[in-house]
Amino acid sequence: MPAQLEGVGVSPGIGYGPAYVLTGGIPEPDGADTHDGDAEAETARAAAALERVAADLEGRGLTAGGDAQEVLTAQAMMARDPGLADRVADLVGHGKAAARAVFEAFGAYRELLAAAGGYLAERVADLDDIRDRTIAVLTGRPMPGVPTSAAEPYVLIARDLAPADTALLDRTLVAAFVTEYGGPTSHTAILARAMGVPAVVGCVGATAIIAGERLLVDGSSGLVRLSPPEAEAAAAVEAARAREAAVAAAVGPGTTKDGHAVPLLANIGGPKDLESALKYGAEGVGLYRTEFLFLDRADAPGEDEQVGQYRPVFEAFPGGRVVVRTLDAGADKPLAFLPPPGDEPNPALGVRGLRMFRIDNTAVMETQLRAIARAAEGTSAEPYVMAPMVSTAAEAAWFAQLGHRMGLANSGIMIEVPAAALRARDLAVEADFFSIGTNDLTQYTMAADRQVSGVSSLQDPWLPAVLDLIALAAAAAGEAGKGCGVCGEAAADPLLACVLVGLGVTSLSMGAPALPWVRAALAAHTYAQCQAAATTARQAVTAAEAKEGAHAHLPGIP
Ligand code: PEP
Ligand code: MG
Repeated sequence: MPAQLEGVGVSPGIGYGPAYVLTGGIPEPDGADTHDGDAEAETARAAAALERVAADLEGRGLTAGGDAQEVLTAQAMMARDPGLADRVADLVGHGKAAARAVFEAFGAYRELLAAAGGYLAERVADLDDIRDRTIAVLTGRPMPGVPTSAAEPYVLIARDLAPADTALLDRTLVAAFVTEYGGPTSHTAILARAMGVPAVVGCVGATAIIAGERLLVDGSSGLVRLSPPEAEAAAAVEAARAREAAVAAAVGPGTTKDGHAVPLLANIGGPKDLESALKYGAEGVGLYRTEFLFLDRADAPGEDEQVGQYRPVFEAFPGGRVVVRTLDAGADKPLAFLPPPGDEPNPALGVRGLRMFRIDNTAVMETQLRAIARAAEGTSAEPYVMAPMVSTAAEAAWFAQLGHRMGLANSGIMIEVPAAALRARDLAVEADFFSIGTNDLTQYTMAADRQVSGVSSLQDPWLPAVLDLIALAAAAAGEAGKGCGVCGEAAADPLLACVLVGLGVTSLSMGAPALPWVRAALAAHTYAQCQAAATTARQAVTAAEAKEGAHAHLPGIP
């Protein structure tokens, strides 16, 4: 067995404890099993078992409440599916024993879900659980399940976890979950996050771990360490506890320890992301990726339809800021209704973002801006619009003037192209604000395609060349009296977020779950510390040195 295994971290936190490996389950009933000839009685027996399982799942849901109840109610509905009952009756009619008929009837559904892939394939474990429970009832075996008492919290390992098990688990008994199967949207992941239990899914080889072996599970990085030195494990658990306490204590608007305000905003892809943005205390939206709304559309969305997609976002942040990005079509976000003109050997260097609209398609841009202005009307949120992939002052001027004509007083640009950062002073004259897209800025600075994993070491925003360009853009905005946010992934890294603030960035926007961590990191350090970290990071030669140098000024951030 290796010293560590790696999966996908889906619920953050550190868990440490002995392994409890959930094995077996219910054996497959023999294919040759037949009943004694009374098909009607056998069908009734199967139906009663399915109903008993459904009622039991419902009861567990009622006890658990919340997300778990939703999951278990859905499972109970599957158990009561009339199509399933018909299939079982048919198989029993052909002589199969009830347990075997149930096994085969579920098999057909199972294959359908597995073949569908993605979210549906992740429901296969739920289906298997209902099947196993029903067969357990029919064959007089105990229900499959997890231990309900233990001397110390255990790391629960399974091929996959059934919602019925995790829903009623006593939080104090479980240090972490590790499963071989499942992805970020599996029920193990959803319920682990709801319970606040660290979890790693998709961890190949986990069920081969020997029961009782002590494991250190990192629900962020996805690493599962086997029998780490006791002192190291204790230190990791302690550091995680301190971090969690700091995160829980940091509430309210973003600010450094000495009161330097840094609005913390959410990146969203549509109204569906609002719940999470509000839950994590976003002060507004710093990047609304509107192209995500229209990825599968063959024709351009109409103005009214767009108003419908934008208005709930303005309504969700009364008095707050909502920055809507105009369509970033092309390269990694191709839109069927806005194909690039002609063949592009390098789409990332082709007609994408704002370039798509200045010569052709201007009406599409005008419709979008009009829809954004209309959506904000009657709400108290402040509408901001920004264009992606701007390279020159002329492009910035074109967009800002168009935005103003459409009644949008805050018309800014994204800084994603090195030329825009190098000549940020010229662009700051034209645009009302900047928002730095560090994902693309890193890609273009390092000439490293963000979709090519072979160059991933060059896609690191800690690289001093990228930090230099961020500093240039932030300084130019500051001189012009304009705001300069960051909305790329860099803003979600608590250490780098502090460095960005030290570089002169005035707001940070990120995927909502990162907000509490960034809020806590800022709250623990002064503006002067952030500035010192930024200076040291820029003096470094490598990304690793930049990070290490920043760490020295910003203790306590992982
Ligand atoms: C970026 O490039 O950093 C950015 C925020 O835009 P996107 O990731 O949508 O290209
Ligand atoms: Mg970008």
